[in-house]
Amino acid sequence: MKLYEQYPVSITNSLSGKKEVFKSLVPGYVGMYVCGPTVYNNAHLGNARTFLTFDIVSRYFRFLGYKVRYVRNITDVGHLVGDGDEGEDKIAKKARLEQLEPMEVVKHYTEDFHQVMRQMNILPPSIEPSATAHIIEQIDITKKLIEKGLAYEVNGSVYFNVKKYNQQHHYGILSGRNIEELMESGRDLDSQDEKKEKIDFALWKNASPEHIMRWPSPWGSGFPGWHIECTVMSTKYLGETFDIHGGGMDLKFPHHECEIAQATGANGKSPVNYWMHSNMLTVNGQKMSKSLGNSFLPAELFSGNHPLLERAYSPMTTRFFMLQSHYSSTLDFSNEALQAAEKGFKKLNAALLLAKQLVRNIETSATAQQEIPEWNNLVDACFKNMSDDFNTAKTLAVLFEMASRINDIKAGVVDVKKVKKESLQHFLNHYIGFMEDVLGLQEESQGNTDALAGAMQVLIELRKKARADRNYALSDKIRDDLKANGIQLKDGKDGEMTYELD
Ligand code: AMP
Ligand code: ZN
Repeated sequence: MKLYEQYPVSITNSLSGKKEVFKSLVPGYVGMYVCGPTVYNNAHLGNARTFLTFDIVSRYFRFLGYKVRYVRNITDVGHLVGDGDEGEDKIAKKARLEQLEPMEVVKHYTEDFHQVMRQMNILPPSIEPSATAHIIEQIDITKKLIEKGLAYEVNGSVYFNVKKYNQQHHYGILSGRNIEELMESGRDLDSQDEKKEKIDFALWKNASPEHIMRWPSPWGSGFPGWHIECTVMSTKYLGETFDIHGGGMDLKFPHHECEIAQATGANGKSPVNYWMHSNMLTVNGQKMSKSLGNSFLPAELFSGNHPLLERAYSPMTTRFFMLQSHYSSTLDFSNEALQAAEKGFKKLNAALLLAKQLVRNIETSATAQQEIPEWNNLVDACFKNMSDDFNTAKTLAVLFEMASRINDIKAGVVDVKKVKKESLQHFLNHYIGFMEDVLGLQEESQGNTDALAGAMQVLIELRKKARADRNYALSDKIRDDLKANGIQLKDGKDGEMTYELD
């Protein structure tokens, strides 16, 4: 029996609002699409939480023996300031402000995003398609929707006709929004005049003369709407109907609702069997977001260089902190919570190092036959908790129990000479497997991280002093020598200094 048959996964499906037993379209295979970042600024911790959620989902499916195709896109065009059909493209705006080519902006922030993913041990997806590489497909599906009478062209732009779609299907199926109410409440904006209804959304936009990101199309020079790229890239790589679509809760409406309408309209079938939404990382109860000015960058957390941080926290502490709550709950960010997470992770980390040592070195007897039922029950509980809608919080609680039992082995509380070798290996290997492969909590030498942050503080103080004394030769030497050692010092406002590891 396969592990995924022994421990069937249940998922809270946002489409039904219920927990459902997961059944993949093709036995043994999982196809999953997750909305990726819009690469116009640095990924903050809130973004990281969403991608961590789906990292766990794909890791656990693989651990159970499924073959997973995980597609996570890069949005490099079409996402407008304000998230609607009006305003400047977020990337084009950044390019204008920084006097860069849009693709320079895209490259820079894509690399930053990848670095954050690597630091947090969030594994790369199987395919990472970008919107600008799928313009032809976006034009094709737009044409198809026009042919089906579900979209219309006005002044070189093409809009999706929501009212028409709703006559055959159900717009609002995911978000529970009511189309009449939506038509009443839509905001009046300039070019909404050209839409038949306020609720219609852009599939293709005519580019004004100053708009730099533009492509030729049957309707003139323009650019795709934000929602269409995900419909195109998910169905291209996973099929017209696929297993799972994920993203942050804030994308449920309108983005995901529009994705369903576009795909159902074009292909005549519902695109996704299970919709999963990850909840927000908050600060004092408010969504962490760059525009609210309450966002932290992962690099700031790892270096401790942020006015609201008491000190640095390691990537694994950060990961542990996030996994302590279920993905469907909000998670509030605070120094206290991080400090508690650091303590918790240290315990599990120590047991991880010990488990690895024990697996390598412990002497067991070839004839020993004793089984320890509690060990098997703990392993079983890890599977059951993870299969229960990826409950990382409960799984961590079981791992703490397992860590205590591992310490018992070390302390001689259990006489391992009497224990069957396979039983011991099963227990220890599953502790290691759930920590590293499923939760992605890698072994970390905590001492080094703290020591580095402390030493950097000393060097920063010395450099500040050198500057105050106008000893620029020394201040430059500190900066250059650190750079040669892979550490970049950054001079901020008010003489503050931060650092980043290359
Ligand atoms: P964006 O780059 O703004 O398109 O966002 C990328 C992903 O991060 C989306 O799935 C968002 O839902 C998610 N996201 C944005 N802010 C937060 C937050 N504070 N907590 C959790 N996820 C977030
Ligand atoms: Zn999307």
